[in-house]
Amino acid sequence: MEHHHPKRVVVCGGGVIGVCTAYFLAKKGAAVTLIEKSSVACAASGKAGGFLALDWCDGGALSSLARASFNLHRSLAEELNGLESYGYRPLTTLSLTITETKTPSPSAYKTDGLPSWVDGPVETPKTIGTAQTTAQVHPQLFTKTLLSKAVEEYNVEVVIGTVERVGVEGGRVDSVVLQGGRVIDSDAVVLALGPWSGKFEMLASMFRVYGVKVHSIVLEPKEPDAISPHALFFSYYTAQGGKPLDPEVYPRPTGEVYLCGMSSEEEVPDDPEQVVGNPESIEVLKRVARTVSSHLGGEAQVKAEQACFLPSTDDGVPVIGEIPGVKGCYVATGHTCWGILNGPATGASMAELVVDGCATIVDLTRFSPARFVGRRRC
Ligand SMILES: Cc1cc2nc3c(=O)[nH]c(=O)nc-3n(C[C@H](O)[C@H](O)[C@H](O)COP(=O)(O)OP(=O)(O)OC[C@H]3O[C@@H](n4cnc5c(N)ncnc54)[C@H](O)[C@@H]3O)c2cc1C
Repeated sequence: MEHHHPKRVVVCGGGVIGVCTAYFLAKKGAAVTLIEKSSVACAASGKAGGFLALDWCDGGALSSLARASFNLHRSLAEELNGLESYGYRPLTTLSLTITETKTPSPSAYKTDGLPSWVDGPVETPKTIGTAQTTAQVHPQLFTKTLLSKAVEEYNVEVVIGTVERVGVEGGRVDSVVLQGGRVIDSDAVVLALGPWSGKFEMLASMFRVYGVKVHSIVLEPKEPDAISPHALFFSYYTAQGGKPLDPEVYPRPTGEVYLCGMSSEEEVPDDPEQVVGNPESIEVLKRVARTVSSHLGGEAQVKAEQACFLPSTDDGVPVIGEIPGVKGCYVATGHTCWGILNGPATGASMAELVVDGCATIVDLTRFSPARFVGRRRC
């Protein structure tokens, strides 16, 4: 069907995936409405670490998506003054082992290139990413900055409301229906509902998306200038023994230090605002912080204690593409622990798919929801 007006696209979900999709669609000339149930970046997209890696997904399904995204993050940061507006910066990344029962041995630090603020009982520091291959953003600021640009420059309209269902007529999308009855006419719809995809009947009847809950804290050290830009990935042995924990630590240019870890598979609550951290998991993260560095102990102020859900699929691969049998209805979800990294290439290739009919930035075949056809859930 020929369109004589700009293609009207409704993007459902105001996380990083929905916002990146809305931005690139609007940049390509579509008339975009973004619908968010609660507030923009209220869930994982506002509470993630924001770590980016060029080549950590090499050899797997995500390789080309991740590489394209890493490069798009760099060019977006140039366009949007990323360091100032959302804390984009390249950094060095280390893997380390830490054992609570050991005492720090200061001589090990200087020789092994360990940052001086990491003064806990750490061992075996190894560089696993350089400023050429790893970087970071503040995920909430990134998502909000990109949306502001999309609103101001490309006229994206933002509606706060809950999408109840997609209107379909003759096998083709024609609208989105919100709770309360409002109907928004559309030529295409993109469902970017993160872990809430599993609660949306149209998607849930086709494939499973479930949530893995992960905890995080944000600290404000007393001397932020002492903290260098190093991302840290730990194997952390507690005094109680057992399997090591795997917390991650990301200092931010804002002067804050973000720590995450402690995951469990839990039911995703309907309301994103109801997602709160389990107190025991938060306590463990605080203990990790104190053990890693004296700068992250008693004198550091705790600015946030929180949790959020990784949107996860049964095969561990995101679902990006047109829904079989419903022309004009697209889905983008299941980005697990790499949604902040993979937001830009997901959004840019989805915009191509919706507007041009095929994606060139990344081959989306591997991500198509068509892979679930014939394996329908009962
Ligand atoms: C602790 C933690 C750390 C992480 N660290 C990193 C990292 O360092 N690097 C990285 O690349 N990734 C990281 N991730 C992963 C990343 O955060 C996610 O993959 C990404 O945020 C998912 O984005 P999304 O837009 O799909 O989902 P979400 O951010 O969950 O957004 C979905 C949105 O849809 C809205 N919504 C739901 N239902 C409806 C409805 N019916 N109508 C309207 N709106 C609706 C919700 O309110 C929500 O705002 C981390 C995740 C966690 C949990």
